[in-house]
Amino acid sequence: MPHSTLTVGKVEITVLHDAEVASPFSQSFPDVPAAAWDPYLKRYPEAFVNGDSRRTHFECYLVRSQGRTLLVDTGLGTSQTNPGTVDQMFGGTQGVLLEELQSAGYRPGDIDTVFLTHLHLDHVGWNMTQSGGLGMPTFPNARYIGNQADWAAFDTPRDSEMFGFSWWADTVAPLKKAGVLDLVTEETKLNSELTITPTPGHTPGSMSLVVNSGGETAFLMGDVFHGPAQVTETDWVFRFDMDPEQAGRTRREILDRAEKENAAIAICHHSGFGRVVTDQGKRYWQAL
Ligand SMILES: [Zn+2]
Ligand SMILES: [Zn+2]
Repeated sequence: MPHSTLTVGKVEITVLHDAEVASPFSQSFPDVPAAAWDPYLKRYPEAFVNGDSRRTHFECYLVRSQGRTLLVDTGLGTSQTNPGTVDQMFGGTQGVLLEELQSAGYRPGDIDTVFLTHLHLDHVGWNMTQSGGLGMPTFPNARYIGNQADWAAFDTPRDSEMFGFSWWADTVAPLKKAGVLDLVTEETKLNSELTITPTPGHTPGSMSLVVNSGGETAFLMGDVFHGPAQVTETDWVFRFDMDPEQAGRTRREILDRAEKENAAIAICHHSGFGRVVTDQGKRYWQAL
């Protein structure tokens, strides 16, 4: 995929496209009637497949700021790095993050920080070079940043064996053993241009990266939104939102902020960058 790069003041953000699948509406938004999707199928044709499924991207972002090189999320991974998720949940779709990174001119050793927006199984896929704690951290010079509340939510036998496979033991638990995982609990400044801010609801520890440079702003928001339609329909509940009411509140709060600051916005499962616009009293995603 050609890389799309956004410049925010002095910061460069490059999309690295790990993978793409089709996700039927009925599975990902079971409470939303099929006909309610019609206006969004017309408005955002690139976001859908076959009229009944979302085109689900798994995007990661390379962020360059003040000599630092961050990676936001590590995608789906492969049968080698995240076998349960890739083979049992996503039909064997193999992530290509490392090839994307290379074609953007970077090596895994160039990444100094891996920021995990949350610890769901489709955002941590390339954390390790091999599954089952057998490998090494894929980004050998990086500190990995996650959220303590997500660690507490998922580091249990019930959730770490979610869906009958051990994604947690394959991808997240080994980071702690390797001593490279930093768990944060609150808003955290990485430098004068980059701030991690809590955006809970989808998971208790969901976080977004706020980029602020030269009077410009961008929000990289992980799974706060699942596609552009939810920018308008903030009450639509995604199946894996762990606290749906809080997720809705967070969506509205961050949209208020993004609109006020005229910020660029990006969400993991939709391609490219957007902005919030209001049209006849409703808010919409407008692609940049
Ligand atoms: Zn998620
Ligand atoms: Zn996700």
